[in-house]
Amino acid sequence: MSGKAIDTLVIGGGLHGLSAALHLARAGRRVTILEKSWVGRHASGASAAGVRTLNRDPAEIPISLEAMEMWHGIAGLVGDSCGFHAHGQLNIAEHAHHLPKLESRLARMREAGYEHEELIDRAELLTLVPAISPHCVGALIARRDGAADPHRTLLAFRRSAEAAGVTIHEGVGVDAIEQAGDDWRLRTPAGDFIAPTVVNAAGAWAGKIAAMLGDDIPLGLKASMMIVTERIAPLLKPVISIVGRPLSFKQSEQGTLVIGGGLQGRADIEAQKSFVDFQELAKGARAATDLFPSVSALRIVRTWAGMEATTKDHLPVICASPNAKGAFHAFGFSGHGFQLVPVVGAIMADLVIRGSTERSIKGFGAKRLMQQRAAA
Ligand SMILES: Cc1cc2nc3c(=O)[nH]c(=O)nc-3n(C[C@H](O)[C@H](O)[C@H](O)COP(=O)(O)OP(=O)(O)OC[C@H]3O[C@@H](n4cnc5c(N)ncnc54)[C@H](O)[C@@H]3O)c2cc1C
Repeated sequence: MSGKAIDTLVIGGGLHGLSAALHLARAGRRVTILEKSWVGRHASGASAAGVRTLNRDPAEIPISLEAMEMWHGIAGLVGDSCGFHAHGQLNIAEHAHHLPKLESRLARMREAGYEHEELIDRAELLTLVPAISPHCVGALIARRDGAADPHRTLLAFRRSAEAAGVTIHEGVGVDAIEQAGDDWRLRTPAGDFIAPTVVNAAGAWAGKIAAMLGDDIPLGLKASMMIVTERIAPLLKPVISIVGRPLSFKQSEQGTLVIGGGLQGRADIEAQKSFVDFQELAKGARAATDLFPSVSALRIVRTWAGMEATTKDHLPVICASPNAKGAFHAFGFSGHGFQLVPVVGAIMADLVIRGSTERSIKGFGAKRLMQQRAAA
């Protein structure tokens, strides 16, 4: 492709591609994003946009806490609040036999030196969420957690990236990757794009891109589903999940209830579509009405599903390619990558520009998954 020289080609215009591109461009790199559909078409546009440190895998906690600091100053990074509100996230114990699980989580957090999670009793729970059913006995809370607006977040990251000089090509999918001397040549229907470094942020399709680069990384696929209800008067502020049941429950700024929690629909990766399974979705609606009986008569106005790659240990792949010099991976967020967006972009810039990062990414190497396949 003729035109200005490109330092880095980012494959995928989801939030992770945008964030990596933004951080790289602010560090002076000439960056182009290639997006096969349109920005935010897949997981990033379908996201519940929960901004959660609560109950994170210990390997993710250091970067998740740094991301949380970034969310609290997100307007400084992308010029907009992204609709982020920090009203806390709570993991509810419905019955007394659920409490030991929360207590042992808290003990592990304290042992590791973390203070961001706390246990609250029934009285405090009812003060924070008066609408919750009084049968609930307590909760684990991360008070600085919250939720954002996914579409506002996409717009803010896109605008900031473009303002920093990033070029975004939509409707331009990468079909093949070849080495061209010290560069990578990306073949697309719109012609070839050439650059010395490539960032693979292709979401559900990242395994295919990794294979084009010579990395055989086994990935799974999930199609998480969401429900949105009609608007109602203010009901609750924090984001709610429950021990032992799939639920994430919150109220948007507009007054709609947004219900998810990892309930799975069906994904067709070739057709690039995901489908809602209404029987499965009913479990989320049931959990929501058990906790908030007052919402049981509400109308559902929209449901959808979004596709994302998963890894065996549910931790992402954030690393330099083990086999391809100048190639980097950021994918496999396994249903909880929205919160990590600001920090993972900064990590990708560290890796691309300096070849290393001071941030803790030990658990996120691609080799851990490639070794599993070799051993299988
Ligand atoms: C329903 C749902 C709810 C969620 N809720 C939460 C939540 O509450 N909190 C949280 O932290 N996380 C949540 N997540 C997860 C979070 O949204 C994702 O981890 C995150 O958005 C992933 O962003 P991404 O940029 O890696 O992927 P995507 O947004 O999927 O972007 C990847 C992009 O790559 C493009 N692409 C693929 N192949 C090619 C190619 N060959 N050439 C060019 N482009 C290509 C795709 O078109 C796509 O736009 C949720 C996800 C879903 C689906």
